[in-house]
Amino acid sequence: MGWVNRRRDLGNLIFVDIRDRSGVSQVVFNKERNAAIHEKASGLRNEYVIAVVGMVKLRDANTSNKNIPTGEVELVAEELRLLNESKQPPFLPGDTVLPNEEMRLKYRYLDLRRDAMQHNIELRHKVALAIRQNLSGQGFFEIETPFMTRSTPEGARDYLVPSRVQPGSFYALPQSPQLFKQILMISGFDKYFQIVRCFRDEDLRADRQPEFTQIDLEMSYPQPEHVWAVVEGFLTAAFKAAGHEIKTPFPRMSYDEAIRLYGSDKPDMRLPEMTDVREAFAAADIEKLGVNAALPLLAIRIPKVGKLSRKERDENKELFGVQTAEFNLLDMDRLEKSMPDAAEQLKGMSSAHPDDLIALVGAKHSSAFKTSVGGLGKVAGAYRLRLADKYRERHKAFERTGDPRHDFRFLWVTDFPMFEYDEEGKSWVPAHHPFTSPHEKDMNKLESDPGAVRALAYDVVLNGTELGSGSIRIHRQDIQKKIFHALGMTEDEARARFGFFLEALEYGTPPHGGIALGLDRIAMILAGADSLREVIPFPKTARAVDLMVDAPTPVSEAQLKELGIQVKK
Ligand code: ASP
Repeated sequence: MGWVNRRRDLGNLIFVDIRDRSGVSQVVFNKERNAAIHEKASGLRNEYVIAVVGMVKLRDANTSNKNIPTGEVELVAEELRLLNESKQPPFLPGDTVLPNEEMRLKYRYLDLRRDAMQHNIELRHKVALAIRQNLSGQGFFEIETPFMTRSTPEGARDYLVPSRVQPGSFYALPQSPQLFKQILMISGFDKYFQIVRCFRDEDLRADRQPEFTQIDLEMSYPQPEHVWAVVEGFLTAAFKAAGHEIKTPFPRMSYDEAIRLYGSDKPDMRLPEMTDVREAFAAADIEKLGVNAALPLLAIRIPKVGKLSRKERDENKELFGVQTAEFNLLDMDRLEKSMPDAAEQLKGMSSAHPDDLIALVGAKHSSAFKTSVGGLGKVAGAYRLRLADKYRERHKAFERTGDPRHDFRFLWVTDFPMFEYDEEGKSWVPAHHPFTSPHEKDMNKLESDPGAVRALAYDVVLNGTELGSGSIRIHRQDIQKKIFHALGMTEDEARARFGFFLEALEYGTPPHGGIALGLDRIAMILAGADSLREVIPFPKTARAVDLMVDAPTPVSEAQLKELGIQVKK
């Protein structure tokens, strides 16, 4: 049984490729053998659903196809039943040219029939299963937490659900199960996990979905290293399920070092780090270049790009002709002509090969980037990625080979800052979330210098993508109160929002910590896909719309009235 994938009519012989989840098989209708069903078969169209009974035979040598698993046999039909017809679909699962994405999402059920989507969804299932089995094997229980709950802050807006029985009150869909999993530690389930949907109302970027799936876990009494080992364990299993071997333990790097060497808190380790090459120059020469000698002069190196012509540089002004009020991007080509000795020396300092592309980024004046920690590094880090992206064909570091030894560069980034300054709101906000524990040593800076407080927070990063974030939590009520205070919350506000949690912390809370990783993102990387929508069966568009069911929609007056809601036009 299956769909008619393709029908070829050769007169006395009709060939039909019948398709199901496992692939296609060829069915032959032979007029001489059975004229009645041959006649019936001539009425078959694409995507009709049929049942066929017949004899499986070896194909003739000249029609045998070794490229597909069923290519050496065919089914000689003796019975044919039409189970259902199909309208001519707007596109066919076998089409080589994909329709535009709007079409794919509107007719998602047809899009999902395509081989690639069937493969991606199967892969996702296998990966999730491997993770569940692995975590269960490591002693974790999968425990469900509510979707209709109170706000759990993770830095986004909440999706709200109005209550009918208590008009004017709302549930929030969880941005994460953060507080429930911490409460599960207080409840004595020392190892919890959940593959769980989370909801965040954010201005969507290309790589986001308003609802997405996390591998969420929490454990009691861990050092960060224990959490990391658990994650490395289930990632090994997940990657193995997709046919890849990965090496553990993953390397580790502090946030400060990541910013200094890569200009990013999620460094892509497939490319070399940046180097401060100030020392290759005399201070006066640096000033001549229009950059300040007191701040780092960062060399970006992209291997194997080869010599760029004047024309290539001129055509890419946004990469090579950059000058802003704060920084300068220096052209190595020009430097080699005007200061050949320094150029030679800086190449040595950054271990450059003659084929490497080098670009220098320097601050214009010493007060540039004062307001942001690692500002110059971040600017340079962003250039590093743009240059790498531009010349990816040449350096090939980003190539996906399908090879089991595929270049998966994992990394733990540790010791994130506890707070970030929000220029708009003129206040400190948590860099992770407000339940993250500060470093013991930095406790005394909570009031005096919040920007310098480091957190026991860590991210797991793969090839420049953040896969997940976690932390050791605050388990003492007094410290949790201090953090709320540092975030500008009054005691009353803290009690109104998190009173239940502050109370729970008073009943013998064990030290605990955990992490959450994006399953969609992991599946996307393993599928070699470029968008999360390729591994989510029913995704939303960048405007958070489900084009298939057409959601969100307005609701009836009656429904609104019942909920005590009035919509302002
Ligand atoms: N709740 C956090 C998040 O969703 C993860 C964690 O801290 O465990 O990002």
